Amino acid sequence: MNIPKSNFPRLVIVGGGFAGINLAKSLKNKPLQVVLIDKHNYHTFQPLLYQVSSSGLEPDSIAYPLRKIIKKSNNTFFRLAEVEEIQPDNNRIKTTIGEITYDYLVLATGTKTNFFGNADVEKYSMPMKTVPQALNIRSLILQNLEKATIAKTEAERKAFLNFVIVGAGPTGVELAGAIAELKNHIVPRDYRDLNANDMQIHLLEGANRVLPPMSEEASAKAEQFLKDLGVHVHCNTLVKEYNGKKVETNTNLELESETLIWAAGVTGSPVKGLSANSLMERSNRYKVNRYNQVENYPNIFALGDIAYMETEAFPKGHPQVAQPAIQQGQLLGKNILRFIADKPMQKFKYNDKGSMATIGRNKAVVDLGKIKFGGFFAWFVWMFIHLMALVGFRNRVVVFFNWVYNYINFDKAARLIIRPFHKVK
Ligand SMILES: Cc1cc2nc3c(=O)[nH]c(=O)nc-3n(C[C@H](O)[C@H](O)[C@H](O)COP(=O)(O)OP(=O)(O)OC[C@H]3O[C@@H](n4cnc5c(N)ncnc54)[C@H](O)[C@@H]3O)c2cc1C
Repeated sequence: MNIPKSNFPRLVIVGGGFAGINLAKSLKNKPLQVVLIDKHNYHTFQPLLYQVSSSGLEPDSIAYPLRKIIKKSNNTFFRLAEVEEIQPDNNRIKTTIGEITYDYLVLATGTKTNFFGNADVEKYSMPMKTVPQALNIRSLILQNLEKATIAKTEAERKAFLNFVIVGAGPTGVELAGAIAELKNHIVPRDYRDLNANDMQIHLLEGANRVLPPMSEEASAKAEQFLKDLGVHVHCNTLVKEYNGKKVETNTNLELESETLIWAAGVTGSPVKGLSANSLMERSNRYKVNRYNQVENYPNIFALGDIAYMETEAFPKGHPQVAQPAIQQGQLLGKNILRFIADKPMQKFKYNDKGSMATIGRNKAVVDLGKIKFGGFFAWFVWMFIHLMALVGFRNRVVVFFNWVYNYINFDKAARLIIRPFHKVK
């Protein structure tokens, strides 16, 4: 992999997500050789992927080059590769561009979409975990609107204009709201040859309320906001089948639809090679102790979404959101130096900063411990927090101006089919 020899111990980080980049940044110019490996050459700000899918933002506003993140870290190297296997007995990993040895290995590989074993759903639905997948959704939505204008039958047109989203967690709720805004503000202006009222957005959720991880107040408010936007919310509803044309559920609901967006859940994305009992079977996450060390592997650590750490406050592991990943990355940066120096490490304690979701313009819900609020102020807080959390000053400026422009003009400027999406037949 052409990494020079060094007198310092080598730490290999697999994954340049929130956990990986925060660890790499905290080890800037420290007495360690750091090798960051990712299968993409950019960091993805996943919380705003839905805005790429719904034509609100271009992907370069929410992605950031990994080499730029480490450009001032003279001790850090980046390699674009997929890690395929860990060989813990000889401290080596195999990647798509060759092998590399490590003294310390950090697995920060995040999660992948969970289709719960439904092969047809996996084949025909649209996941939204990566930038290319978000662009696929954007293309499909716009292609379907174009096809609806030339549909030969009413049923065909309806199927192109029926958008079904599965999973009413923050991702599903935010996407449903954003597609509803397309329907309410863009379709009537751009697609004058369509009746915007024919466009229907269905949000399906297995639990008995939307935003199940948030408070009941937030759920109720979010559901009302969605209904105000014209979204059909179906709780206690699980998808049984989807053949690319028709969605069937356990409640006997049948929806003819060319678009099924799958935001129903994730599962860990581990790398093969560690013993099976180092993984939590149900969630595919590495079992780690309070220092993020993987069970039975003292020199291998796991961080963020892929790490399963039980604490008193979080007996079932931390939520798979950005903050635990960021905080674990930052702490491991300090702990690894202590570990190498044979000093005691500090236990991880998650500082829960609350949760929020936006449903559309002036519509958001925020849970900050006992403080819960919704509406315009929540929406403002949501925008501010997301803007500040984006990686890179340029991205913050671009997103800010996009949002201001979109707000004033009721517009979504990125309505471009750059790379057409070809549906599986
Ligand atoms: C659509 C969506 C919306 C979300 N919205 C929110 C939100 O509003 N708020 C919030 O807090 N959280 C949100 N999340 C969750 C949040 O994005 C994750 O919790 C967070 O990204 C976890 O960080 P991580 O570093 O553990 O993993 P990730 O950020 O997923 O990073 C994993 C990295 O590992 C790389 N990788 C994986 N396997 C390999 C391999 N074998 N070889 C090389 N590289 C590999 C990937 O390319 C990726 O860059 C959202 C997630 C999604 C998908």
